Amino acid sequence: MNFTQNGWNTIDGRDLDRSPIPGTDVVPIPGLRPGDVATVLLRVGQLFNERVAKVYNPGCWGWNAPTPIPGSNVYSNHGSGTAIDFNAPSFPWKVRKMSAAQREACRQIVRELDGVVAWGGDFATFIDEMHFEIDATPDEVAQVAKKIRGGDMTDFEDAKKLIQMIKHRDPVDEAEVKMYVGLKPNEAAGRMLDHEWKGQHDVLKVEYPALGEAHKLDKAAIADKEAARAEVSELKAENARLKAAAGEKKVTELKPGLYEVK
Ligand SMILES: [Zn+2]
Repeated sequence: MNFTQNGWNTIDGRDLDRSPIPGTDVVPIPGLRPGDVATVLLRVGQLFNERVAKVYNPGCWGWNAPTPIPGSNVYSNHGSGTAIDFNAPSFPWKVRKMSAAQREACRQIVRELDGVVAWGGDFATFIDEMHFEIDATPDEVAQVAKKIRGGDMTDFEDAKKLIQMIKHRDPVDEAEVKMYVGLKPNEAAGRMLDHEWKGQHDVLKVEYPALGEAHKLDKAAIADKEAARAEVSELKAENARLKAAAGEKKVTELKPGLYEVK
């Protein structure tokens, strides 16, 4: 196993979180390390889009195949899916392009996320304004991710358990299924459920209406069926946009900050 600069292990590209940056249809191509890291980096993206510059593609990159940084034997944090680049053509590597206000906005994002991310514009070695990366331990990242999430399904593991129980019917523990069906998924759990059911977790509601009705823990989520339906159709649309955005493009990092999209 290899590790990238920040100490996180490299991953392959199979199980990336391919969610768009909230409030946009821009997916950091091809995706991010799933779980807490994606939650934090997607929030960075949301704030960057709101405060620094509108994000666009091609230009936003997440994971890429782990390769040592040219001229060294150190792996870039993109190889562990813990780094994200925004608007690469506008903010190229080693060049200062941002205004003072934009730079301050980037530093403010770092502060708001309790310093679990670092911004490349302040790197001592070379300027990399497009780049943010995780600069903390999994526990520290988990704490910030928890703050970011709303909803009751605050543990990513809850979504995994639910998937295990429903999808694989193994073991079907009615009491547990009841509990999880009633929970309103938070941002990360929702993305995971959506990924698993391809935007069709209304199937769950159809298959288990009795469980849903019987469950009392989250009355609001069950009572508000219209909202739940709207949420599902939104997720479906989001999925379609996401697919179109990610397409079948292959992204190659020719050198840090320089990418080729085919
Ligand atoms: Zn980068």
